Amino acid sequence: MSQGTLFIVSAPSGAGKTTLVRELIESLDGIQVSVSHTTRPRRRGEVDGVNYHFVEVDEFQAMIARGEFFEYARVFDNFYGTSRPAVEALLEAGQDVILEIDWQGARQVREQLPEAVSIFILPPSRDELERRLASRGTDEHATIARRMRDAVSEMSHYDEYDYLVINDDFTTALRELQSLVIGRRLSLARVQESHGPLLAALLS
Ligand code: 5GP
Repeated sequence: MSQGTLFIVSAPSGAGKTTLVRELIESLDGIQVSVSHTTRPRRRGEVDGVNYHFVEVDEFQAMIARGEFFEYARVFDNFYGTSRPAVEALLEAGQDVILEIDWQGARQVREQLPEAVSIFILPPSRDELERRLASRGTDEHATIARRMRDAVSEMSHYDEYDYLVINDDFTTALRELQSLVIGRRLSLARVQESHGPLLAALLS
């Protein structure tokens, strides 16, 4: 069986990453999102083990000490990390895996696995980003300004990624993400692994 591909997907808050990734994995077979560990408190509607594995800071630190994270980072006052054994097991089972992580985590993954495919999702304009951030709960000016600063800080790393998807029209952005996953599955190395006997037979 061929080894799956690891996809890194990053975006500022408000770019629509989570919804796009959810639709992407629903629309294709053989691809899953890795469930991260975090020390951030659970938000309303979030389910432990589904959205994140919610853990205490000391448990997270023990996992760091045991070398259990493929990557981890502190993002906005909380820790987030990707379990190494969980991701390796999925890739070895031939699944494509998506890591929804920030730019710091993306750097750590690229260092260890240069063949990982990294995708950055951008909003269509600054005004639209501000509108999307403002529509999330509180309208307090200072809060929106802070979210905007955080978003600009994350976006400043866009040029470290292999692919850029602009989420203006949702359906178009989804099709673009699907194309990236399918394109990767057609790469020489993957087809050689998955269709070795066919290639041998064609040339015999
Ligand atoms: P949120 O708390 O809104 O779910 O996520 C905040 C930020 O943390 C997002 O930019 C998200 O991509 C990032 N993040 C989520 N999980 C991980 C992870 O496992 N590792 C890293 N490095 N960042 C993560």
